[in-house]
Amino acid sequence: MAIKDVQIVPCRVTGPRGVVKSFLISGDDRLILVDTGFSDADADIIIDQIEKSGRKHEDLKLCVLTHRHGDHTGGLKKLKKTLKFKLMAHELDMPAIQKATGHEVDTVLKGGERIPDCGGIRVIHTPGHTHGSISLYIGKNRTLIAGDMVLSAGKHLVVSPAYLSDDPEQAEESVKKLIEMNLAIEKVLVGHGEDIFEGGAERLGKLLIARRTPDTA
Ligand SMILES: [Zn+2]
Repeated sequence: MAIKDVQIVPCRVTGPRGVVKSFLISGDDRLILVDTGFSDADADIIIDQIEKSGRKHEDLKLCVLTHRHGDHTGGLKKLKKTLKFKLMAHELDMPAIQKATGHEVDTVLKGGERIPDCGGIRVIHTPGHTHGSISLYIGKNRTLIAGDMVLSAGKHLVVSPAYLSDDPEQAEESVKKLIEMNLAIEKVLVGHGEDIFEGGAERLGKLLIARRTPDTA
């Protein structure tokens, strides 16, 4: 399914945790990449996708990392070798990202910022999965890029499971906080599993009422 201004880029098709996704946002005269996949091969998938979509490599000007985990940051080294762009991440995950990738985070986020593209992309601090996890909300097309704050297992959305979370309680609090923000969320794009294309806010609301444990994560 297509979302205006957002391309879903499945990476690492055969990895142990299955597919991890990156997202390419068509911003105002630039492309914004959200997450980088796990490996050099994933970086190549992203680079190919930029071309396939009729854009130039130079159009990529910014990469936002939803959190520090290797399956979201592992493609960064290769991307940085090939392309020129700025890096954005939350302050609490920044040290780990810089250590693992050897690349400086150019813009350090706290949550509450607004990236000016697409009429405004809101940065929301949604800790729990990692302390510095963020979600991005693109109001214009009612899309939430949730990183690993939630993931989907089969047809169900689930809160980041405890064994994958720095702070499981905080992960639930983050979902609660997000619901209380009362954003018009239609689509929820997740790092792992199937994306939600309608009724996103409602699906998130149900999460905390009927919590489920995923079979796999
Ligand atoms: Zn993760």
